[in-house]
Amino acid sequence: MDHWENAWVPFGVIDTHTHLEAVAGKGVPVNELLERLASAELIVDVSIDPRTLPERTRLAGGRPFVVHTTGVHPSITGNPDLDQMVETVERQLASRNDGTPVVAVGETGLDWYRMYAPRDVQIAAFERHLELARRESLPVVIHNREADDDIVAALRRTDLPASGVMHCFSADAAQARRFLDLGMYISFAGNLTYRSAEDLRAAFDIVPRDRLLLETDAPYLAPAPLRGRINHPAYLGHLYTFAADRARCSVDEMVEQIGSNARALFGEIGNRPG
Ligand SMILES: [Zn+2]
Repeated sequence: MDHWENAWVPFGVIDTHTHLEAVAGKGVPVNELLERLASAELIVDVSIDPRTLPERTRLAGGRPFVVHTTGVHPSITGNPDLDQMVETVERQLASRNDGTPVVAVGETGLDWYRMYAPRDVQIAAFERHLELARRESLPVVIHNREADDDIVAALRRTDLPASGVMHCFSADAAQARRFLDLGMYISFAGNLTYRSAEDLRAAFDIVPRDRLLLETDAPYLAPAPLRGRINHPAYLGHLYTFAADRARCSVDEMVEQIGSNARALFGEIGNRPG
């Protein structure tokens, strides 16, 4: 399969949420991918299972524009090893200044759509992640499927010093407003470009420019016109162009804005091209 047909990498592009190990698992040669992304400013490789951090670090190959998060994705909170996995997250956070660039906690959150694990188990895991983010003054990356009220409630109970991001935002403008009011960033993935996603575009329209992020969530959600392909960050040009058109600015301006927002959230990291 040709993973590079229609690839499009704007100079200095940022992906605030990708899963390098899952991309590799779909057969995309990650080393070649990252070579094609050499002009990127920042790629945030997000944890599903913290035990894969060494492998994800290896895939990044020491490139300064690739950084990582650590956390237990809600989809595996039903795993009998949950406690050990959260302890692994704690250990990785404690040693994050020893070499591996870990810049956020997550992804964590709640999923009442697929109900991977009972509600109380998911909520307890989410709260442990929020507590770690608070303690370490790191931003938190939040997965939310049909759990807006419970996530708002949990965020209200925890005063996060470094804010966070509602990743792959998939609700409407009213919900976006609630998370913005809590100080969160709102990140849109390729589904923003899908024909049926009018509610999502209405949400995009109300997010202030300085609270907006863009992501692949690769290997999922390839943007139009590549919908259905295995997604990866070298397709980001399609999403940035769509978002720039919608926001009535140029792709360069959108790249500049997302870069500045990503630095405000994740810190002064990544490449600073040009
Ligand atoms: Zn994700």
